[in-house]
Amino acid sequence: MDEHAYRVGILGATGAVGQTFIRLLADHPWFSVTSVAASQRSAGKPYREAANWLSGAPIPAPVASLEVQPTEPSALDCDFVFSALDSSVAGGIEQTFAEAGVPVVSNAKNHRMHERVPLLIPEVNPEHLALIDTQGWSADGFIVTNPNCSTTGLICGLRPLMDAFDVEAVQVTMLQALSGAGYPGVPSLDAVGNVIPHIGGEEDKLATEPRKILGTLEGEDIAPADLTLSAQCTRVPVRNGHLACASVRFRGDVDAEAVGDVLRTYEAPAGTETLPSRPDPFVQVLDTPDAPQPQRHVKAGGGMTVSVGRIQDCPVNDVKFVLLSHNTVRGAAGGAILNAELLASEGYLAEAQAEPPTEPTGA
Ligand code: NAP
Repeated sequence: MDEHAYRVGILGATGAVGQTFIRLLADHPWFSVTSVAASQRSAGKPYREAANWLSGAPIPAPVASLEVQPTEPSALDCDFVFSALDSSVAGGIEQTFAEAGVPVVSNAKNHRMHERVPLLIPEVNPEHLALIDTQGWSADGFIVTNPNCSTTGLICGLRPLMDAFDVEAVQVTMLQALSGAGYPGVPSLDAVGNVIPHIGGEEDKLATEPRKILGTLEGEDIAPADLTLSAQCTRVPVRNGHLACASVRFRGDVDAEAVGDVLRTYEAPAGTETLPSRPDPFVQVLDTPDAPQPQRHVKAGGGMTVSVGRIQDCPVNDVKFVLLSHNTVRGAAGGAILNAELLASEGYLAEAQAEPPTEPTGA
């Protein structure tokens, strides 16, 4: 396997998630960023001038000097694109790329619930990739999405429980970081010393996306999982890391000890172990009474490991716990990169310059 076999374009490269892609791909063994695209406000400028770079580390040198392109397939020199576009424009632009024969690995919400589009977490539902075969936008172009950032973390905790037990309902209160709102995001006078008990559209996403992701592939379709979810989403003055306070009701007797055992021993499906961005462990269980905390634990596994603590019997449902995930890494750019790695290893990016990888080449 050649290093940097796939040439990658990033749509929405100047935004908060677009920048995270560029940071995470700087040393990636399979993918090299060769094109960046954003709105007409940015197109034509060198990336270093167009982006309000938020990371403390410098912009990776090969990207800093790239000229920002308009979001048109003919303008980009790449084998596939990651989309970190604003959702007000992502739907049409992503479809245009798929119709032009370009695979799109998206973060945006627009195609997540499309019945032919996988809503993918490689360690959770890799078999849903089969939906791609029936999309039909063009011979080579397709769209794959990753879930909403708060859904992603919760699902990583629920998949092991769904496999081991019969989950009936989940009640969750989300404490969501400011970076989830992009940049500049929430006005500082609203954010500092405050909690905002409303994030537009978020509670609906948490009620619907998990049923698709945890659903079963039956023929060419996904049969949604039979569980009820109720979410309350709040914005809190935390920089990175969505914290979920969840309470789960099971059909049958399940207690906190059994939930802890299952989360500690869960092994992701075979076929994902060679993916460079796959963390080990997938979920870490923390036993100290004041964990997990965004400040201390959000960077576990490079931001890809989900942390669970406070696992207790619940007098209202059956078991409650607190779960932490990195919203712009596992919940956005890192999750999408892992999706693209699965696509490459499963041969869906076979039209690229090189054969799909068969062996890990480093992290
Ligand atoms: P953001 O900081 O506002 O960035 C939006 C990007 O879209 C910028 O690069 C912007 O380019 C580009 N854009 C805006 N209008 C455009 C147009 N008309 N044509 C072409 N490009 C346009 O947003 P973000 O937080 O990075 O989020 C990006 C996407 O990821 C959104 O769909 C969001 O819902 C999703 N997402 C975000 C998170 C998170 O934690 N932040 C997590 C999961 C998913 P200019 O700079 O040129 O305006």
